[in-house]
Amino acid sequence: MSDTTMPAAFLGHGNPMNALESNRYTEAWRLFGASVPKPRAILMISAHWYTNATAVTAMERPRTIHDFYGFPQELFDVQYPAEGAPDVAEMVADVVKPTWVGQDVDSWGLDHGAWSVLLHAFPDASIPVVQLSLNAFKNFDHHLELGRKLASLREQGVLIIGSGNIVHNLRAVDFQQRDSGFDWALRFDEVAREKLETDPSEVAALDGHPDFRRAVPTPDHYLPLLYIAGLADGAPLDLLVDGHAAGSISMAAYTLGMSRDVPAPHNEEPAANLPDGFPTLESNL
Ligand code: ZN
Repeated sequence: MSDTTMPAAFLGHGNPMNALESNRYTEAWRLFGASVPKPRAILMISAHWYTNATAVTAMERPRTIHDFYGFPQELFDVQYPAEGAPDVAEMVADVVKPTWVGQDVDSWGLDHGAWSVLLHAFPDASIPVVQLSLNAFKNFDHHLELGRKLASLREQGVLIIGSGNIVHNLRAVDFQQRDSGFDWALRFDEVAREKLETDPSEVAALDGHPDFRRAVPTPDHYLPLLYIAGLADGAPLDLLVDGHAAGSISMAAYTLGMSRDVPAPHNEEPAANLPDGFPTLESNL
């Protein structure tokens, strides 16, 4: 047990190349990692483990999964050699009961939604990491409620990080808009911000918003946000960094429970977020 309540965060991960780059988003992730108390373990909730059940990685040594194609070899060479934490995986299963959580000992590992941000936030990979899957068959309220149930882990030294993107529409990607967003993307990002900074749980009710279907054409990148909104249990989130990439991707990141006097990175410098040769829309961004 710890006498410190761990902060939590939602990080907009965007292009997998952010794993290798240095820009104001990756700087924000680094600052977040450097500012939190040392966690016992990290629970990652990544957009990229979107599957038919709720499961948690429970192996001693989770593999680094390169779940994309069309990127430079350098990205395929990345390893994030953090240990797993089978004991923390059991804790996850306990706190969300009666929801069943499968203990995954030989299937998943750490996907790029997890390691592309962890490489910056915790570059020495010395903190054990477990990853939670997103059950594709459940509605927004279910995911929000699971987030609420995970809250007690914050009292036990577990740092919970959601990794997705609030606006994520690969079909609408526009390479001319390197660091800007379509009007509908800006509007949806802004309404999400208003909710997150007042009553975060209301982001679970944004599916009626006129821009929702363009901003969130598939739920996978939005769902990690619902877990952090659930964890917050009414407390406001704080913007860590914001911005847009390729017209249709919001790079916004939020923290929960950080001291408000931690300096946030400024937004003046344009992000070198989308390199030339940005892969095809079909790739698993
Ligand atoms: Zn992604």
